[in-house]
Amino acid sequence: MCLYLARMPTVHCVRCGQTRERMAFQPFNTELGRRVYEQVCGVCWAEWLQTQQQLINHYGLNLREQQSKEFLWSNMEQFLLKTAPPAAG
Ligand SMILES: [Zn+2]
Repeated sequence: MCLYLARMPTVHCVRCGQTRERMAFQPFNTELGRRVYEQVCGVCWAEWLQTQQQLINHYGLNLREQQSKEFLWSNMEQFLLKTAPPAAG
C-alpha cells in the first residue's frame, strides 16, 4: 500500500510559488488561519515558525496577551500572504 503518496495533500503556495506538501493541520481556527492553511505550504509555515520564535524572543512577547497575539498575526500575514500594506512607503 503506497496510495498515501499519491494522496498527499499539496498546495500551490502563495509565498514561494511552488506546489508543495501542505502543513499538517490548520494552525488556528480563524479566518487568517484558514487562509494560511489553504494557501501556504508546510516549508514556508516552518520558516514562519522560526521567525515567530525570533520575534517572541526579541520582543519578549507574552502569548497570553491579546496585543502580542495580534502583533504576531499581522506579522504572519505579511510574512506568508504579503497582503498587509508595507511598513514604510
Ligand atoms: Zn511555500
